[in-house]
Amino acid sequence: VQPLIVRVADEAAMLMWAAQLAAVLKQGAVVYLHGNLGMGKTTLSRGVLHALGHQGAVKSPTYTLVEPYELAEVQAYHFDLYRLADPEELEFMGIRDYFDAQSLCLVEWPEKGAGILPRPDLEICLSRWQDGRELEVSATSERGVQMLNALSA
Ligand code: ADP
Ligand code: MG
Repeated sequence: VQPLIVRVADEAAMLMWAAQLAAVLKQGAVVYLHGNLGMGKTTLSRGVLHALGHQGAVKSPTYTLVEPYELAEVQAYHFDLYRLADPEELEFMGIRDYFDAQSLCLVEWPEKGAGILPRPDLEICLSRWQDGRELEVSATSERGVQMLNALSA
């Protein structure tokens, strides 16, 4: 399946696309968010969490590594592994408890958890495009393919 390329001119457009993404995320979906600092990983996560009913702020959980969100229809976890020194630390955090069949997991800096982090269903690479951003969305599981197809439809 070909990756989906999405170009968003500004933050508002990104948040609107995040709502479309939220609508196709299945229970237990794992989404890796790749991209340098400032590329919009947290903004995209905020858009998804708001679309799923969260009303407060969403900040990168850089120091705590993970922030839980108990939403109306789903339990979500937002990870930022930027400060993770060693993937093994994820074992001490009890990573298996987060990645269960029901929970939605959004992961910034998944590279830092390589080898320990469960595999994703979708991988989104964010980069600069004009004054906005380009998002390259790839499906990396059978369920990811279904989500990507629903997004493209
Ligand atoms: P990251 O989590 O990848 O480090 P952030 O989501 O914290 O990045 O946001 C980076 C900055 O880019 C913020 O100032 C935000 O307003 C801006 N931004 C986010 N999305 C877009 C977009 N689609 N176009 C332009 N600027 C954006
Ligand atoms: Mg961030």
